[in-house]
Amino acid sequence: MDFNLSEQEKMVQRTAREFALKSVLPRATDIDHRGEFPVDLAEEMGRLGFRGLPYPEQYGGIGAGYTSYALAMEQISGASMTVGAIMAINTVPEEALLCFGSEEQKRGFLFPLAKGNKLACIAFTEAETGSDPAAITTTARWSDNTYIITGQKHFVALAPAANLALLFAKDDTKRLSAFILDTSSPGFVLREPCPTMGLKGLGTSVIYLDEVVVPPENLLGEKGKGFDVLLTAISLGRLGVAVEGVGVAQAALELSLDYAQQHKARGKPIAQMPTIQWILAEMASRIEAGRWLAYQTAFLRNQGEDIRKESAIAKLFCSQMAVEVTRLGMQVHGSYGCMESLPIERLYRDAKISEIYVGVSEMQRAIIAAYLLE
Ligand SMILES: Cc1cc2nc3c(=O)[nH]c(=O)nc-3n(C[C@H](O)[C@H](O)[C@H](O)COP(=O)(O)OP(=O)(O)OC[C@H]3O[C@@H](n4cnc5c(N)ncnc54)[C@H](O)[C@@H]3O)c2cc1C
Repeated sequence: MDFNLSEQEKMVQRTAREFALKSVLPRATDIDHRGEFPVDLAEEMGRLGFRGLPYPEQYGGIGAGYTSYALAMEQISGASMTVGAIMAINTVPEEALLCFGSEEQKRGFLFPLAKGNKLACIAFTEAETGSDPAAITTTARWSDNTYIITGQKHFVALAPAANLALLFAKDDTKRLSAFILDTSSPGFVLREPCPTMGLKGLGTSVIYLDEVVVPPENLLGEKGKGFDVLLTAISLGRLGVAVEGVGVAQAALELSLDYAQQHKARGKPIAQMPTIQWILAEMASRIEAGRWLAYQTAFLRNQGEDIRKESAIAKLFCSQMAVEVTRLGMQVHGSYGCMESLPIERLYRDAKISEIYVGVSEMQRAIIAAYLLE
């Protein structure tokens, strides 16, 4: 592995940092307090090319690779994990299309997504399950040469703004199939939001599918093999969550360093206390370990490798790291760490969700253990 970044990767990282500091950071508290999906920032990420970074130019992307993707998302997530998550979630359907789409599907669906002209969500979770594909109850009935999709999906992030949805349903063989749906199709109904403690403004919502007619050319991959599509595409989602964790944790460290040098106890900045120094050092070392784990996973994906195991390891480690580092950051801030007027408590709330969404930590451990024991 080459530990040096290429000129293109450095440029992407710089551009993302500028965007994060100028456009995202000043809005982060407002997005969190109001809980409104930041449509303009999603559009700006599209114009800047962040929504298609790893994908080939012929399919609307920048062709800058997955390391660039990780570098950009780390910067953006440090300013607002919600905005980083918008970029990450939109990439999951893109990855599914790249790996399983026909040439026509890549040109018709991946191109406008990677170009930033359209946004896509992923609809897997239902009221009864977010982890078990066998428990999915949404159906795709074959009738008159079309699929008719009926069911309900819960916790669909990006839903109010998405033009397309990567949706998983049971076909008439009772196996999972993957579909690309146009969200303006009759019967595709955006319902109530799912208010969450963190990642506010992500547009996480319930969707009803009331006999949505989907043409066969919108089936992604082979009929009945939707689980393969899910496992591959969600691997990139896990890498995304790992990187979000690194960005949020780094932001917590930077805030804590500033605070510790300014806030005084017994007449001296608390940064001079060995206990505070211990916490800061602990935070920094954990972030560094998570960062390189995430970069290595991105590097492997760049080499065309299957990252199912590595992305589970990176997500498990980085999400736990982010929760612990943001918790330590709150400790450095004392009572001010609990106040809504300072950003550190938002980082903690956002970090906690990284242990849950795109697969709970227990699922990641189950995946890793299965690889270890096979
Ligand atoms: C902010 C947010 C955004 C989200 N965005 C999306 C989205 O865009 N699209 C989407 O489809 N979903 C989305 N989700 C849903 C999320 O991915 C699922 O809720 C998550 O995967 C967990 O599923 P669950 O809630 O059904 O938990 P369950 O599967 O019911 O698990 C509950 C608990 O049971 C245990 N458990 C479950 N299964 C296992 C297992 N196999 N091995 C060991 N222990 C297990 C674990 O301890 C787990 O924490 C989002 C959720 C949130 C909070």
